[in-house]
Amino acid sequence: MEEEKLVRNYVLEKEVIKGLPEKVVIWEETLRDGEQTPGVFFTVDEKLKIAKMLDDMGVGIMDVGIPVVSKEEFKAVKAVANEGLKATIIGAARTVRSDIDACVEADVDETSIFVACSDLHLKYKLQMTREKVLDISVESVQYARDHGLKVSFVTEDTVRADLDFVTELYNACTEAGAQRAVLCDTVGVMTPSAMQWWIGEIKKRFKPVQLSVHCHNDLGMAVANTLAAIECGVEIPHTTVNGIGERSGNASFEELVLGLEMLYDYRTGIDLSKIYELSRTVEEISGIPIAINKPIVGYNAFSHESGIHADGVLKKTLTYEPIDCETIGRTRRFIFGKHTGQAAVADKLEKAGITATPEQMTKLVEGIKEMAEHKGKKEQVEFIKIFREREDERRGISDREFWDIAKNTGIEPPK
Ligand code: MN
Repeated sequence: MEEEKLVRNYVLEKEVIKGLPEKVVIWEETLRDGEQTPGVFFTVDEKLKIAKMLDDMGVGIMDVGIPVVSKEEFKAVKAVANEGLKATIIGAARTVRSDIDACVEADVDETSIFVACSDLHLKYKLQMTREKVLDISVESVQYARDHGLKVSFVTEDTVRADLDFVTELYNACTEAGAQRAVLCDTVGVMTPSAMQWWIGEIKKRFKPVQLSVHCHNDLGMAVANTLAAIECGVEIPHTTVNGIGERSGNASFEELVLGLEMLYDYRTGIDLSKIYELSRTVEEISGIPIAINKPIVGYNAFSHESGIHADGVLKKTLTYEPIDCETIGRTRRFIFGKHTGQAAVADKLEKAGITATPEQMTKLVEGIKEMAEHKGKKEQVEFIKIFREREDERRGISDREFWDIAKNTGIEPPK
């Protein structure tokens, strides 16, 4: 049997995808939405480091921050913008002149001007009418264009907004000079099929403009929804490394890229061999640990314990691993424990140049199971406790630190 025929993939085999765009360009959000992960901040040097890595790997567009946020943020955005990277560098702005001015001064190539557009956000958050939102949006797009910036127009909570208003808003902003429409599932409530219907409607209604989607992961759908949008011809998907971002985060860079490469046989132009290194760098700098069972970059993505799986993988990795771990700079590992079988043990001995008798093998496997099942859980419980305590008490500014700062302003902490 041919090797290729061992892989069955209905996406390719049955040509289930119709409208995949010719070119998909990743819009990386790690330095903007990713930095908005609760308790996370990046220094100027850290932003530069991540931006350079993303650029080296072939990311086409990155939003690197909101220059008006602080002096440090301004410095960071400006530093990245002036680093001479190949990627298009974007600075984000509210529909406020000073925000756009800060983007101009930060030397970015483009600005992403964002405004909320659902009635829910308009009524409770902005306390603005639709007319007012339309006016400030068009005015802001024009203002940015007049100051030499290309504009991506971004609407928060687009999927829960009235489609007629969304259409009116985008068409007005496109006419005012916005080159790209960024549609957001801000609270992660779409499904792939809903996304496909919705993008179809958008394409019927919008004046010609490049489409982009920004999907959140509140129900674990971010990557699937983003892929569904790409299947409908959306060219610019938003991602963050390790899927970090507000709440449960955004569509993860590594999952989307590997999804396109492996499942759609689509060349993203991203250097896959650096994926693991990038993921670990962002893990360290963000302080957000990667979940052990996180696809592609989690510890367990290429780990095996159970006898049947280890045996299969040792004979042919494709049996229980859909991705070749070397392509993303990883190695597989075997965990020895209760479910260990002879194959993994024999493999370990063989690699150490040791041959064991059948009796020794049986005893060794028995010994491993026996030890694993009687291992205390003290260390494991301690580890989880430290982790939880850190998240509960010390993420961001601690409670004590908060009241210390308050004290300095003359506020008396509660008794
Ligand atoms: Mn977001």
